Order: sequence, then structure tokens, then C-alpha cells
Amino acid sequence: MDCTLPPDVRKWKESMRRFVERELVPREHTLPPFANTLPEEVTAGIVAQLKSEGLWGLAVPREYGGAGLGLVALCALREALGHTTLWSLARLLGTEPPILLYDCNEDQKRRFLLPTLQGKRYGCFALTEPNAGSDAAALKMRAEPDGKDHFLLSGRKIFTSHADEADYALVFALTPPAGGAAREGITLFLVETDTPGLRILRQLDTMGGDRPSELLFEDCRVPAANIVGVPGDAFGLAQKWFACDRIALQPPIAIGAAARCLAMARAANAAPDAQIGQLALRVYVAREMLYHAAWKADQGLDVRHEASMVKATATTTGLEVVDQVLQWFGPAGYGRDLPFERYYRDLRRFTIAAGTYEIQQFIVARALLRGFSPLNCFAGAEAAAGGRQPGPAHT
Ligand SMILES: Cc1cc2nc3c(=O)[nH]c(=O)nc-3n(C[C@H](O)[C@H](O)[C@H](O)COP(=O)(O)OP(=O)(O)OC[C@H]3O[C@@H](n4cnc5c(N)ncnc54)[C@H](O)[C@@H]3O)c2cc1C
Repeated sequence: MDCTLPPDVRKWKESMRRFVERELVPREHTLPPFANTLPEEVTAGIVAQLKSEGLWGLAVPREYGGAGLGLVALCALREALGHTTLWSLARLLGTEPPILLYDCNEDQKRRFLLPTLQGKRYGCFALTEPNAGSDAAALKMRAEPDGKDHFLLSGRKIFTSHADEADYALVFALTPPAGGAAREGITLFLVETDTPGLRILRQLDTMGGDRPSELLFEDCRVPAANIVGVPGDAFGLAQKWFACDRIALQPPIAIGAAARCLAMARAANAAPDAQIGQLALRVYVAREMLYHAAWKADQGLDVRHEASMVKATATTTGLEVVDQVLQWFGPAGYGRDLPFERYYRDLRRFTIAAGTYEIQQFIVARALLRGFSPLNCFAGAEAAAGGRQPGPAHT
């Protein structure tokens, strides 16, 4: 097995690093402390520049107009992006793949996937509820048939990131038993955010730039044509999303951030070599785990087990490195002139959102007792065979 990054991926990663140094690092100080975006016209200019340098759509499959470089490439681009606190623009920079939209039918792909890949529409992911987060299968939101062609959604979702900016939401809800099933199943709906009956109750202020929303659905009427995949069988889709997310979203950012902070510590002689080396070893381990898992995912192999190990390792490593380097720099490290305090607040979220550190440990322990089936992050439901796992439903 060749454990080095393929030459084209390495080349794109270096290009992204140059882009980060030139376009993003100089703008870091303009990012408000409790926001994660810049003014729209500034972001539009950055996106246009990114596209002109060929850095858009590299991980998107060729059939959808991308370069088809896969999850390894996506991780490499995002690791490069982690070298700036403006990594928070990642979604707008086309580096957060709409994984579940690859499972859409042709009509849904036209309405949702393609405009999302082009950066014209944005979605949010609404799974967590007041009593269903770590145990996602405990969700209570209901979708009752309304005539032959519609469903009425009722219930609450919480902590939905970017709901205030999204054009549509991916909403998981319980539907009545279908096709001879004994129990109601979990179904995934694409819901336009301007649908009557859906509103944002409030946004939660957090220690970082995120302001996730609490959503209320009251008889929100959604066409059956907006169901993704098989009605009643969407828990496997949620698991697929989690597996890809736990590899490619937070870990590369955490590793990039840690690498930058360590480099700054080294350049400033902020600590003895042995202490810096000790943390560098941990970053190395996390990075190797990340690319190994991404490579396996690109082969269409099972990565649910690895996804949890990568998330647990990379996010805690990133947080510990940032915290330690902040400490080495003392009061200057605590201040806003340096990137550490912002990184610290951002990375603190990574051990909670998309499954807590404890839940990752739980999944790793459980996986020792079971085999998992193959998973391909950029393929539709048929290729990602057998998503659903029996037993406890912790995400
Ligand atoms: C900033 C932010 C953004 C988010 N964005 C989204 C989003 O866009 N969409 C979405 O659907 N959700 C989102 N979430 C929700 C997030 O994924 C959940 O909050 C997270 O998975 C934890 O689930 P919970 O809320 O049920 O926590 P709880 O399960 O109540 O966790 C509380 C504590 O109990 C521990 N715990 C729970 N079960 C066990 C167990 N079996 N063993 C050991 N310890 C356990 C947890 O580890 C944690 O420490 C977001 C959360 C945050 C903070």
C-alpha cells in the first residue's frame, strides 16, 4: 500500500495552502469574535478567486462536473484550510460535500444536489432533537401522510447549524410503517426552509462563531417527491453522513490548526524541543489515521469504525495542542492578536458536535464485536450497501 498522498492531491493541497496564506490569513483579524463569516461581498470575492485557481469541486465526482479526487483530496484541502481561523468559511468555499444528496433521485439531484455543488443553494442537516442527539434513533418528529402525495411534519429540531442561512433542510422524521414493516421508520425529507409551518424559534449563542437554531415544524406540508431514498429506511443515511463527516469535516481542520500552532511555537522558541516534539508526534498519529480512513472510504470499504477513532483522536489532539500552545504564549496567547484563542473556541465544539467524544468511544467498543458493511461517501444508496446496523442506535 502506498501511504503517500497521490501527486495530484499533494499539488492541490499545496495550492490550497498558498491560497490560505495569501487570501485568508491576512483577513483573519476581520472575522468578528462571535461570527463565522465575513461580509457577503468579501466572501464572494474569495470564492471567485478560489474558483479561478481551480480549487473548487476537486472532490466532487466527475459525473457532477468535479475533478473526482475523492475523500483523501477533500481531507487534504481541508487540512490546508485548517491553517487559518477563517476555516469557518469552509462551507462557502465548496469544501463541505452534500454527502446525502448523492442518494437523491434524478429530479432531486437537479433541484438540490447540482445547485449545491455549484454554490448556488445551501442546505442544513436537522437530525438532533431535544431528546435525541447521541441516541439519534430516539427521535420523535413525525411525518404523517396528507393525501397521496404529501406529508405533514410536526416536531422540533435543535442545534441545527446554518438553518438561518439555508435554502433547504435535510430533516429526519418518523413515518408510519410501510411495506409490511411492523414499526414506524425514519425517513429523510428535503424541506425548503420557506415552507409554511417551519420556523426558527431561536438561535443559540455559543462560545464559538456558530449560532445553531431550534426549529419548530407545525403541520409543515412537504411533497412525498422530496423523500430521499427508501421511506422508513433513512437511519443508514444518517450513519453514512456521520461516517463521512467524522473523517472529512472536523479532523482535517483540527490537524491543520494544530500543525500551524506548533509551527508558530517552534518559530518563537516558545517551549523546549522535547515538548514541541511530543505534541508533533500526536499530530502525526492523528494525520496518519485520518488519511488511512479517507483512503479506505475512497476504496468503498467500511469506515464507520475508523471514522469514530479518527474523530476522537484528531479532535482531542487538535484541542490539546491549541490549548498547550496558547499556554506557552501566556497572556499574548490568550489575546486576540494571535489565532490560538479563536482556534480554542472553535475546536472545543469538535468534541461535541456530530457525536461527542464519549459516543465515539462507545462506537469503537461496539465495533469490536461486529463487522460493518462497505460505505462509499460519494456514491448513492445502492453502492453504499447495507447502511443500517442492528442494535443500539447511538450515532
Ligand atoms: C455547535 C453545534 C452544532 C451542531 N450542529 C448540528 C447540526 O447541524 N445538525 C444536527 O442534527 N445536530 C447538530 N448538533 C447536535 C450535536 O450533534 C449533538 O448535540 C451531539 O451529538 C450530542 O448529542 P446530545 O445533544 O443528545 O447530547 P447528550 O447525549 O445529552 O450528551 C451530554 C453528555 O452525555 C454524554 N453521553 C451521552 N450518552 C452517553 C453514553 N451512552 N455513554 C457515555 N456518555 C454519554 C455525552 O458524551 C455528553 O458528554 C450540533 C451541536 C453543537 C454543539
